[in-house]
Amino acid sequence: MKFILSVVIATSSLFAAVSAHAIVKRAPPSGPHWDYSGDKTGPDHWGLLDPAYVTCETGMQQSPVDINAQSLSRFVHCAKKALTFDYEPVKDAVAHFNGHTVEIDWTPNSKTHNNSIAIGKKEYHLIQFHFHTPSEHRINGRHADGELHLVHRNPVDKSLAVIGVLLQAQARNVPFFHYLTALQKKVHADKRDSAVAAAPGTTSAVVDELLKDSVCAGTQPTPQSATKVDYPLKLVDFAPLVRALKGFTPRWEYSGSLTTPPCSENVAWNVMHDPYPIGLDQLRALVDLQGYNARDLEDSRGPAHE
Ligand SMILES: [Zn+2]
Repeated sequence: MKFILSVVIATSSLFAAVSAHAIVKRAPPSGPHWDYSGDKTGPDHWGLLDPAYVTCETGMQQSPVDINAQSLSRFVHCAKKALTFDYEPVKDAVAHFNGHTVEIDWTPNSKTHNNSIAIGKKEYHLIQFHFHTPSEHRINGRHADGELHLVHRNPVDKSLAVIGVLLQAQARNVPFFHYLTALQKKVHADKRDSAVAAAPGTTSAVVDELLKDSVCAGTQPTPQSATKVDYPLKLVDFAPLVRALKGFTPRWEYSGSLTTPPCSENVAWNVMHDPYPIGLDQLRALVDLQGYNARDLEDSRGPAHE
């Protein structure tokens, strides 16, 4: 896969770190294992791994896509509907690597406020956001350094709307992404602790017993629970991000899909033309944690998106 970083000086050091990305490799929450590489679990095989993933293989409106003259003449549109944000700071969120992406989750307090967007008159609630390195969407064939996906769901028909924000590395760290390097440090600290705990002869007797018990009971912990590393976030303040997004034009919209299994379609994509900055150290932390996690382009498949 071709991989272009605009920060040339960072390229070698960033991707030398990719091999470390499996340090907290966790099983997906459900369904068979899938990955971004490999003969059996890579993107070309997602649709064959499970009947629930078949849309990855057969879908006709799959994402991501390249935004270029051809796609703009076929299915990508310069967005005309108004996009409005109604985000407030989120309390008690958690940043973690879920085995595929660094994701920020929280329990929405719908009694007080739902962070939401409106596209035209349709409202969607923000349910999580996560990262891809490099970007999944491309502009005229070129990746950005990363892509932030703000994932929203309509509370009535459950349809999804994702805001795709391209990320461009810069020397200075960006406040909105402060948790990335903190999560990276915590994961590495946990890895050191696990290495000690797992070394022969130094395993806790209690843990040994629990593991034995769970094997016998058929409830052996998955790698997910065994390696779960969360970085708690007291507050996620979206204000600087939203301020920037409001001024980003143009933005492109098209009807696409989730870019990970089960690749469900009818996702309303809004991809911003302008990139948002991310600190080089913050991008390095992402690459260290999640490696290469961009699905191949899907817009050359047959009559897709017609
Ligand atoms: Zn995504």
